[in-house]
Amino acid sequence: MSAPVCRICGAGQVAERGRKRGAFIREEFTFHRCGACGFQFVEPFSGFAIYDDRYYRGEGPDPYVDYEAEYRDYRQTHRRHEFADMVRLAENFLRHRESAPAGTTLRWLDFGCGAGGFLKFLRERATVGGRTLELSGHDVGSYADLLKQKDDFRILDLDEIGREPAGTYDVISMIEVVEHLPDPVAALTQVARLLKPGGLLLLTTGNLDSPVARRRGIHYRYCSPEIHVSLFGPRSLAQLYARVGLVPHGVRYAGAVQFKVLKTLRHRPFAGALASLALHLPPVVWLIDRMYGVSAMPCAVKV
Ligand SMILES: [Zn+2]
Repeated sequence: MSAPVCRICGAGQVAERGRKRGAFIREEFTFHRCGACGFQFVEPFSGFAIYDDRYYRGEGPDPYVDYEAEYRDYRQTHRRHEFADMVRLAENFLRHRESAPAGTTLRWLDFGCGAGGFLKFLRERATVGGRTLELSGHDVGSYADLLKQKDDFRILDLDEIGREPAGTYDVISMIEVVEHLPDPVAALTQVARLLKPGGLLLLTTGNLDSPVARRRGIHYRYCSPEIHVSLFGPRSLAQLYARVGLVPHGVRYAGAVQFKVLKTLRHRPFAGALASLALHLPPVVWLIDRMYGVSAMPCAVKV
């Protein structure tokens, strides 16, 4: 077997970082790290079959997933904090860009729309930055079918997204998607193609170069090898953007930080209630943001 090369920057300086058994698929996985850009990846890739109904109920490798609750009513889930944050960031971005005349629609694609909570949040808002939203989602699986057939959303599958004309979207959101993909360059190439010049990519993923991640190494909870197969830090994410012709765009998260804490306390109502109160204090949000490096991870713009 030849030594692996980095899937992001192509460097041959990839070293084994460690091995661990999956919590769900009881086999050994190897974590690799690129010495040039810091990108980490997991081998072997266990495939997409793991994303079944058990996974969607939180009975798979990610106990914080609850598609059923989100599909039923996203307002009752902590994800609403994250959704509002994404819209705030988009509005900040649009305010500083005067190109599109008021009154034109804002085309927004939620790439990896999952249970559809964000699409519903956006549909209820109807406008962002004073412009009427025109929504599309991209995903496959049972929830994508539900969103298309029952909720009348425009949901594109893999073939349809490939046929979408270049430069279609003003904003593309990609919330906690890229870490699941064995080939992030292919997905981001597609995203970059679909963005309009001047368009915004709102991408979130865990920061493997954050103080908490560095201290815990491969035992960091985010290093769940069955599902999180492409792991980034600020440097490797910027490298990924550069590879597909996007430019990093710095953001300051707030609600997304709150959500990251609250979701881990989903099964602990008392701690969750305390955290909800503490997270009203900006210094608490700031501290957690620094520990987990949330805002250190850039979004991107197509120039
Ligand atoms: Zn690299």
